[in-house]
Amino acid sequence: MENSYKKIFEANKKWVEKMNGENPDFFAHLAKEQNPDYLYIGCSDSRVHANEIMGLQPGEVFVHRNIANMVVNNDLNVLSVINYAVEHLNVKFIIVCGHYNCGGIKAAMQPKDLGILNPWLRNVRDVYRLHEKELDNIASPDERYNRLVEINVYEQCLNVIKTAEVQKSYYEKGYPRVAGWVYDLNEGILKDLNIDFEKELNRIRKIYDLTKEK
Ligand SMILES: [Zn+2]
Repeated sequence: MENSYKKIFEANKKWVEKMNGENPDFFAHLAKEQNPDYLYIGCSDSRVHANEIMGLQPGEVFVHRNIANMVVNNDLNVLSVINYAVEHLNVKFIIVCGHYNCGGIKAAMQPKDLGILNPWLRNVRDVYRLHEKELDNIASPDERYNRLVEINVYEQCLNVIKTAEVQKSYYEKGYPRVAGWVYDLNEGILKDLNIDFEKELNRIRKIYDLTKEK
């Protein structure tokens, strides 16, 4: 255990040498500013690493991760990240990325007491309830689980669209657009759920329009 901990710092040194070897200005350039086009909201799962699966370098994607890639209305953490990404970094895309084999989604599908995780997973359970008909019609438990992963991404995309920052910025500047993806751990493939951003934005504006002042 002690050895593997120390190895991290040895690996870091090697990485610095490698990056400097490839580009002597790499760190000097990165230290000056970040200018990412993407905000990625994903799961904390150690197997799903935003930069690697997107093929992006440090500085190219702003990242927020939590259990089951949730965008919860009263979570100051994710709301602050969205606010900063939209108003200060001017990101062009906000991506909610779920993944199959998600432990958070699986836990939420079991109706039992999970202690401190209860209030967090309640948000996933609420997504299940909203789409109960479709999900209950899927006979295979594995397929139902996979479908909940996808539906949860869709609902979290709507939660992003419900924020005032995203609505106002989109109408004023034409960005950010919101996209939903699912990452397949078995094959390493990213799948675009092709959520129709304009359609969803127009649809939810009926109730959640926050572009007007009081
Ligand atoms: Zn997960």
